[in-house]
Amino acid sequence: MAVVIPPLACSVRACGLLLERRSRAYVCARRHTYDIARSGYVNLLQPTDRRSSKAGDRPEAIAARARLIARGIGTTLIDAIAERITLAAPREPVVVDLGSGSGELLAAVMARAADRSRLTAIGIDISTAAAEQAARRHSEGLWVVANADRRLPLLDRTVDVVVSVHGRRNPLECARVLVPGGMLLVAVPAPEDLIELRRVVQGGAVERPRDHTLDQAHAALFEVADRFDIRERHELEADSLRDLLRGTYRGERRSAAARIESLARLDVTLASTVIVFRLRASC
Ligand SMILES: [Zn+2]
Repeated sequence: MAVVIPPLACSVRACGLLLERRSRAYVCARRHTYDIARSGYVNLLQPTDRRSSKAGDRPEAIAARARLIARGIGTTLIDAIAERITLAAPREPVVVDLGSGSGELLAAVMARAADRSRLTAIGIDISTAAAEQAARRHSEGLWVVANADRRLPLLDRTVDVVVSVHGRRNPLECARVLVPGGMLLVAVPAPEDLIELRRVVQGGAVERPRDHTLDQAHAALFEVADRFDIRERHELEADSLRDLLRGTYRGERRSAAARIESLARLDVTLASTVIVFRLRASC
């Protein structure tokens, strides 16, 4: 049986050649070498692509989101997206998650695969803490540290599905790496997402405005194939509310945490809009 080679590209500027696995490292034909961490991820971040020495979400935020998912909070969205990818993907799909966090979405995709050996699942995150957690939890995936706002470390026209859940978006790079007719799934928070929590933290009702820039940003390269909303409601106790705060808001504010502590429980809505884009044939 042919071995599927993941289409990872060297991230040295102006190189971009295929990276091949050599025991504990990935190496390109120009011998640029990236060691594989003990936990199994590979760091392809170049110094110029790093925004800070500890880029990305803090480990506490990543751990908080993983705990929520383990309690079944946020899994309706993950399951719906994984199902959609499984139904639409070809026989030997390459699926890339931008902002893969602790890896639960790709794990759900891998769990659904009819033939796991034919699926290539690549999770990209700028946080080494995220890549490390994903690699420890889901060793069958390929976990990469890279800045998805910059050039994606992937070869042209090699990816069948790109997914971004509440994460970074990069239409030009997605169009470059997708095969003709490839699929891009983008999930964004819907206006009523976490509205009860925001009411407590910020005071007053605070419905987010719907993001109308998403379609415009993708219109030149992608057509909208489908669009659907996913909504969950949970009655949450203090520990889950704390995790929602840690996992959602950057820099948990002391005053917000105190207000959450004063609640025994709270009904919370999680709501997202998922847009399924197809790469235009002309691209
Ligand atoms: Zn190279």
